[in-house]
This record gives sequence, C-alpha cells and structure tokens, in this order.
Amino acid sequence: MRFSALIWFLISILPGGALAGSETNSAEFPEEAVLEAAVPEAASPEVGRFFVLANLEFTLLHEFSHMLIEELKLPVLGSEEDAADRIAIIVMLKARQHQSAEEVIPWLFAVAGDWYTEWELKDRSSGKIDYWDNHHLEIQRFHNIVCLIYGGKVELLEDLMDTEILPFERAMSCEAEYRQADHAVQWLLDTNGHSGKIMATGEQFTVTYEQPIEGQNELMFDLLQSSRVAEKLVAALSARFSLPRPISVEFDNCVSEPDAYWHSPTASVTVCYELLGHFLNMAEYRQKNSPRACNIPSLRKYMGARLRCNDSDESGQNEESEGEAKK
Ligand SMILES: [Zn+2]
Repeated sequence: MRFSALIWFLISILPGGALAGSETNSAEFPEEAVLEAAVPEAASPEVGRFFVLANLEFTLLHEFSHMLIEELKLPVLGSEEDAADRIAIIVMLKARQHQSAEEVIPWLFAVAGDWYTEWELKDRSSGKIDYWDNHHLEIQRFHNIVCLIYGGKVELLEDLMDTEILPFERAMSCEAEYRQADHAVQWLLDTNGHSGKIMATGEQFTVTYEQPIEGQNELMFDLLQSSRVAEKLVAALSARFSLPRPISVEFDNCVSEPDAYWHSPTASVTVCYELLGHFLNMAEYRQKNSPRACNIPSLRKYMGARLRCNDSDESGQNEESEGEAKK
C-alpha cells in the first residue's frame, strides 16, 4: 500500500488539471490540445505531466519492491515500507546516472515534493496522526527521500545542508545512508539477479488496463498509453530477475480510495487511475506553493521554472519566507 487511509479527502478540495508537453522519459503525448481544452484552469500542463510520470515511476518501483521482497524471499531488517521507498529512489537515481542535473534533480524532487505536499495538506486539526501506521509519516518519507537524493548528488546539492528541507543533523548521515542503500540494491542484483535462462517479459509480467471511467481517469489512461512507463519498467525487471510465478500489473478505476498496492494472493500490482489524477492535483499545488524551495539556490537553479519561482518573487512570497528557509 502506498498510503495510510485518511489522506484522500484532499482530492475533494483540490482543483483538477491538465497534462501535456514533452518529457524525456516518454513518447510524445498527442492529446495535448484535447486535454488543455478539457481543463483550461491548468497552470502548466508540461509540469503536471512530468510530476505525474515521476511519481508513477516511484509508485511502481515501490510496489515492485514489495513484490521482489516477497517473491524472492529477501531478508528485511526494519520497515519494509521504508525499504521499498529506498529501493525505488536508488533505482531512479541509478537509472539516470548519466543524465544531466537538469533532468535528474527535478525528476527526483517531484517525488519528494509529492510527499511534502501530502503532509502539508493533511488535515491534522484533530490531532490524529497515524504514528502507529507501518508507513512512515509523509513528512518523514519526504525527508528520507531528500536525504538519499542529497547523499547521491551531494556535489550538486551542497546548499541543501542546514535548510528546512535538510537539517544539518540529518545531512551529516545522508552520504552514508545513500551508500548503504546503494550497496543493498547492488547486493539484490548480485545475489538474486539472473542465474539461469532469461525469460521474455511476457512470460513474467502482464500489464492490463481497465476501461477508464470518463473524465480524469481517461486522461490518465491516455498518459499511461503514450508514456508506456509500466511496460518499460517490467521489461527492465524481466531483464534482471527470474520470478517464481507470473506477475500482473493492473491499472484500474478505484471503488474506494485511490491507491497502489501489491497483492500477494493474486500476484498482482494494482494502480488506480485516481492516484495519478491525485498526483496531478499535487503538482498544481506544488507549483503555486514552493517559496521555500525557491530560496535554495540549487533547487531554484534546477527547478525554478517548474516551481514558478519568478512568480513567487513578484508576489512577494519569496521575500516573506526568506527567514524560514534556513534552519
Ligand atoms: Zn508500500
């Protein structure tokens, strides 16, 4: 599971949005004009599309990590949810080790930014926080992910240290945390990777799409079809692992909460179209509410356009929050 239960009230209070534009991980998205016409309020379709695809990749990798832990009977010390987050982030970083900072940093920070937003918009007025949940709190997942990105890209993100985003005390351990997680992923590949016949992707995985209900789910279906993110990831997994039974990856309309989950009895990973729509809403919120990130030079350099930092400057938000940026 991706979330604990109570977060989904957000969907009802945030506006819808649009997707379009180009992104390095995906094929061209032909429905741009249709989408923009359907949702004219969207601030930046390209940014929304980028944010959704980055978080889709993270979500699939997180659920595939649960699948690998169970199917390969991997030993896990500590929280499995935390392990799944760490595997996903390390894989995302390693897959882009030859890409430019302008490509890698926004992609990874789209994932961190989603978790920050989940926490920022969470209704905590009742004082009810799910400390008991097997998932870390959203804000902890945010800091854990930022720490790994920083640990893996410290030469690009030096100025993150001692900010609200990465307090000094945590930053001190991030390079070691990155090395530890990177070592664990390498161990996984070395000890559980292919030792025999490599099976075709179709023998190990099927990817299926339920007919989407009208509206935003249809837009998410179109994005999945044009980007082929799921198909690319299962092909990469098939090239590295031989699994004991076939796995199905299913995109579906949700009857209750939009979520993503690994279900062992049916050997399936399910992702709700509604979860992708939720990411789009988070993208729009993030784009309008990131003055703190804009005050950190490296984030402004790599993500300023996506976060509309210049707009923040003009509205005075940047100045107002300056004192909050440094811890
Ligand atoms: Zn999980």
